[in-house]
Amino acid sequence: MKKIGAVLFLFILILVGIFSGYNYKKQVLVQTEEFSQKIDSFPPSQSLSKRKPILLEMDRFVQDNFPYNNPEGLIVYTWRFSPLFSFFNLRLEKAIGEIETSQPTKNEIFLWYIYNMGVIIKSENTTVGVDLGQEWISPKLTKLADLVDLLIFSHPHPDHLSLKLARRATENGIPIVLPSGVVGREAFYGERFGEKTMNMAEAVAKFAKIKNKKLIIEMAPGETKTIKGVKITAYPATHRGPKHLRSTPTRWFYFEIANTRFLQTDDAEPKETPLFSFSNKVDVLLTAQPRINPEQILTINPQVVLLLHHHELGHGKDACRNNLNDYLHLAKEVEKQKPKIKVIPIIWGEKIRIATK
Ligand SMILES: [Zn+2]
Ligand SMILES: [Zn+2]
Repeated sequence: MKKIGAVLFLFILILVGIFSGYNYKKQVLVQTEEFSQKIDSFPPSQSLSKRKPILLEMDRFVQDNFPYNNPEGLIVYTWRFSPLFSFFNLRLEKAIGEIETSQPTKNEIFLWYIYNMGVIIKSENTTVGVDLGQEWISPKLTKLADLVDLLIFSHPHPDHLSLKLARRATENGIPIVLPSGVVGREAFYGERFGEKTMNMAEAVAKFAKIKNKKLIIEMAPGETKTIKGVKITAYPATHRGPKHLRSTPTRWFYFEIANTRFLQTDDAEPKETPLFSFSNKVDVLLTAQPRINPEQILTINPQVVLLLHHHELGHGKDACRNNLNDYLHLAKEVEKQKPKIKVIPIIWGEKIRIATK
């Protein structure tokens, strides 16, 4: 009798566990869905002052739900239980749905912000993915490889380059553009991301498994190539930070889609390539703060500046906290001096429309 009682108790305990787990998941989904809808009611076309509350709320949301405290910790294992994971997936699914169904006219380009410095740019004829990285963030990320005609990666750090995505793209016959010196390089991810979160040898081996090597297009500094109708120039650049990071093959990529000129400055500082050489030659600047200042933006004088490399979870909680205030400050400074330049801090899954010339 005692035995039956114990079994029954255990059974009820399991049921309660399943039920509360289910309820928790449902609650998380409702919470993230509501927040996502709220974000959509503050589109990036709105003024910065109007959007400031939602940007701050997004920052708080990331802070409150940050999945780990130690950047070298067990990211992959704790991440999938985080409400941020549900939220990110929701935003990514929304973007994927829009990328699949929207068709820009010849007078416009659509740009979706995916993660860190990762964006998808869609014109009437081409879809290009730039710096799509951090593959552990979502299993759905690789789906983007089915939606693009071309992928560009500024440098081989995991927050900028997803190997899974690159490989799936080449399996689909899609070319990928990389700085020369990446393929076959041993020190692939730098020391910090070394053995703990990513095995370098494995990463290189994965790359080597790409069957059609012709689809890997390495670009040396100063080279210009037209790939799938996109004219791309690679500018010399040095990754910021200590020596092991500075030796990372890195480029600034300058490319043209539907007569619209983009410059992506990734994790590199304007040393080899002076910014004034881009004066009035860039329509959309994809950059990272605090690596750029208002004077530098004013020198380039683009139509649109997207402030990226924020809420990059692999850089730890503090990096996520400090960025937004810097971004808002920078955007305000530029706005004060040249209101024509639109500086946009952007949230995962958001879309902007750019008028072509
Ligand atoms: Zn980097
Ligand atoms: Zn980075």
